[in-house]
Amino acid sequence: MTRLILATRNAGKVTELHSILADAGLPHELVGADAYPDIPDVKETGITFAENALLKAHAMARATGLPAVADDSGLCVDVLNGAPGIFSARWAGRHGDDEANLGLLLAQLSDIEAPHRGAHFACAAALALPDGTERVVEGRLLGTLRRAPAGTGGFGYDPVLQPAGESRTCAELTAAEKNAISHRGQAFRALVPAVREMLG
Ligand code: IMP
Repeated sequence: MTRLILATRNAGKVTELHSILADAGLPHELVGADAYPDIPDVKETGITFAENALLKAHAMARATGLPAVADDSGLCVDVLNGAPGIFSARWAGRHGDDEANLGLLLAQLSDIEAPHRGAHFACAAALALPDGTERVVEGRLLGTLRRAPAGTGGFGYDPVLQPAGESRTCAELTAAEKNAISHRGQAFRALVPAVREMLG
C-alpha cells in the first residue's frame, strides 16, 4: 500500500482527508507529519494559497522520500480585496489567535452594509512526489459575513461566515455538514483524481 504523508500536525485535517480518500476508494495509507517529528515545519513564504500548499508538500516529499499532500487556506473578504487571505491566521498580529483575528475583522467591517459583506473561504490542496512532480487544486466556500459571531463549532472565522443558501454560520453546522461543502473538502476531493493518476 502506498504511504501518503499529509504535511500538517492538525489531527482533524488528517481524519478529514482520510475519509475523503477512503470514500473515493483510494487504498493509500495516510499519515500526518507527527509521524515524522524530526522534520522541521517549512516557512510559508509564498504569496498565494497555492504557493504555500506546494511549498509544504514539496518539503515533506523531499524530506521523507514519499508522496506528500499539503493544504493552505484562509478567508478572503470582497470589500478588503481578498484580505486577510494568506494572512488569515495572524491578521491581528499573533499567529493562531482566532478571537483577536475575528474581533479585528468585525471592527474593520463595522460600517459595511449587508449587500457588500461577501466573502469566501479558500483552500489550495497540493500533491508533490519526491521527484518534484506536482499538482495543485483549489476549493472555495462562498458566503457572507455576519455582524456578530454565532455558533460554537468549528474554528477561526467560522462564527461569522454564513455560507450562501444557508441560514446558519459555519460554526452552527455539524462537522459533517461543514465538510460536505467546505473549501477544504472541495479542494481535497478535487485532488483525488491527481492522487489516482500520479500514484495509481
Ligand atoms: P490553515 O490553512 O490551517 O493554516 O488556516 C489558516 C487560517 O485561515 C486559520 O487560522 C483560520 O483563521 C482561517 N481558516 C481556514 N480555514 C478555515 C475554516 O474552515 N473556518 C474558519 N477559519 C478558517
